[in-house]
Amino acid sequence: MIIVMKKGAPEEHIQNIILELTSLGLQPLPLYGTERTVIAVIGDERVIDERSLTALPGVSKVMSVLQPFKLASRESKFEDTIIEIKGEKIGGRNLTVIAGPCSIESEKQLFDIAFKCKNAGTRFLRGGAFKPRTSPHQFQGMGVEGLKIMKKVCDELDMISVSEVMDARDVEVVCQHIDILQIGARNMQNFTLLKEVGKTKNPVLLKRGSSATIKEFLLAAEYIMAEGNPNVILCERGIRTFETDTRNTLPLATVPLIKELSHLPIIVDPSHGTGVRAFVASMSRAAVAAGADGLAIEVHTDPDKSITDADQTISCEAFASLMDEIKPIATAVGKSLK
Ligand code: PEP
Ligand code: MN
Repeated sequence: MIIVMKKGAPEEHIQNIILELTSLGLQPLPLYGTERTVIAVIGDERVIDERSLTALPGVSKVMSVLQPFKLASRESKFEDTIIEIKGEKIGGRNLTVIAGPCSIESEKQLFDIAFKCKNAGTRFLRGGAFKPRTSPHQFQGMGVEGLKIMKKVCDELDMISVSEVMDARDVEVVCQHIDILQIGARNMQNFTLLKEVGKTKNPVLLKRGSSATIKEFLLAAEYIMAEGNPNVILCERGIRTFETDTRNTLPLATVPLIKELSHLPIIVDPSHGTGVRAFVASMSRAAVAAGADGLAIEVHTDPDKSITDADQTISCEAFASLMDEIKPIATAVGKSLK
């Protein structure tokens, strides 16, 4: 159930409803929009007397939400969620491009890549310090040392960092160094981890599990939001199918589908989505044309030497050309790449 407040309802009225719901043993979660505020109600709704709630000052209407993902649903919040971080906006009419290596390998490697990506026109730098590898014998990432490198490089170049957190016990240390917490595909349903990042104030980049349905994907976002963190960025990164010529199958219909079901921003990762360097540019262009709010792309100064995911990593030069190519496409779909 949601309580839709009247346009411009004062904070006092919002707090009054929150108090009322709390006294009924329910968990109220306000979703502040530019137009109006909606208060989502978590708990056993049978204790609610709809009529007396509707009569309270500031209330426009009380409605049921049919989707199981109540907070992430467009039924609860009609306007697109726009996440603000360090002077940048994610969602709405903005196109956000996150670029950088699959793994942080050294300070020089990350600095050189970051410098070139920034010159190509983005302030969002990705790089994994904790790597979810299929085999325990493979490189597992630089860990906390990698996080420190990321912080240093981003401070120096005034960039915004994105890095994966794999374990609930690492959330605190990752938050100390990183701006946007990435939840990888393999952890999309690690509910303990989702709840833990939900308790932080950092935006969360939630990647779709390789065999998750869209409903499961949105319910994973719901776990984060239910803990009080509304800043979730969804990422389609391909799903596992019978096809073996690409690493994953990249379903771009996810973009309009998510746009219909949810107010959260949705970006596309064509690197993991295809696993093939040569396909990254075309799928990036297609994702932007489909209305994606952004892209996450693996970039390296020497792609073949990337310790992880070399096959799908593009060069800094290819990335710079790609940035030029997507600009007119973004404009055509009403978005802008700063
Ligand atoms: C990554 O972004 O490097 C990564 C491991 O992605 P995913 O979780 O989508 O496989
Ligand atoms: Mn990778």
